Amino acid sequence: MAENDASTAGESLDAQEIYEQTAALAAHLARAGIRFLPNAQESEVEAWGAHFVAEADEMPEVSVAEVPVAAAPAAVAPPAAVASPARPVRRVESVPAFTSIEGPYPGESLSVAERKARLDDLALQVAGCTQCEVLSNCRTQTVFGEGSSTPRFVFFGEAPGAEEDRSGRPFADQAGQLLTKMIQACKFQREDAYLFNSIKCRPPGSRTPEPGEFQNCRTFYEQQLALLRPEYIVCLGAISAQELLKTKLSVGRLRGKLHTYLESKVVVTYHPSYLLRNPAAKKAAWDDLQMMMKDAGLM
Ligand code: SF4
Repeated sequence: MAENDASTAGESLDAQEIYEQTAALAAHLARAGIRFLPNAQESEVEAWGAHFVAEADEMPEVSVAEVPVAAAPAAVAPPAAVASPARPVRRVESVPAFTSIEGPYPGESLSVAERKARLDDLALQVAGCTQCEVLSNCRTQTVFGEGSSTPRFVFFGEAPGAEEDRSGRPFADQAGQLLTKMIQACKFQREDAYLFNSIKCRPPGSRTPEPGEFQNCRTFYEQQLALLRPEYIVCLGAISAQELLKTKLSVGRLRGKLHTYLESKVVVTYHPSYLLRNPAAKKAAWDDLQMMMKDAGLM
């Protein structure tokens, strides 16, 4: 992957960016199951919102939408000079959602220990699963997934290949090495993210999984996502994107936009195995990751 040449170190943030990044951090902490923060007082949230709106009014107009205040920092007193406002906060719509699966994740956000315990239980269920007769008879072992139990980013692939089937780890082959480099280019480590596939058993000959196999395995990745509650889901390749977003569109049509799956933003890009076969597509994949990094406030 190309080196990140868009360093923003030292640049100051404007009021809108500070608001968006603070709100994103608050939402991430909530998803991560961190409960020791005090609940935000509605009056303080409104006061902070008004403060940022007042400063944002000085900024050049872009594309804006009126949305109600959703989250704001809770533990800091609002500026004294700001009057309590009634109007909503104006937020910039950087990239319109293209495909959207609306709704909250089921259940509540769990603590780290609870998540790990539930993920371990789920992995045991997967290891004993025989719903797909062909796949369960062909596999060496299931490939559940690995990584942080409180990830901001998850990487979602199609199905295990030969090396994954042998090792029991996702993205363990040459394509996985490229994925690791892509993740590191995003300024975090593979262990900080969570990696998994939509299908937990290797199809024979690494063929494309059949619709019934996706149907059988769907409950497992849906439960993983409900436990992990990532801020971003990166779909690697058409199969995983079409399965998650319930669409028939190609990667070419889906990439370059932020989609929605419940409470997560979804980025669609090329699978690293495709990038190994088509190095010219690496530029497009890097563009997709940069779009995510910008949205996440990482560049
Ligand atoms: S692919 Fe999923 S549903 Fe099918 S046997 Fe393996 S674990 Fe079970």
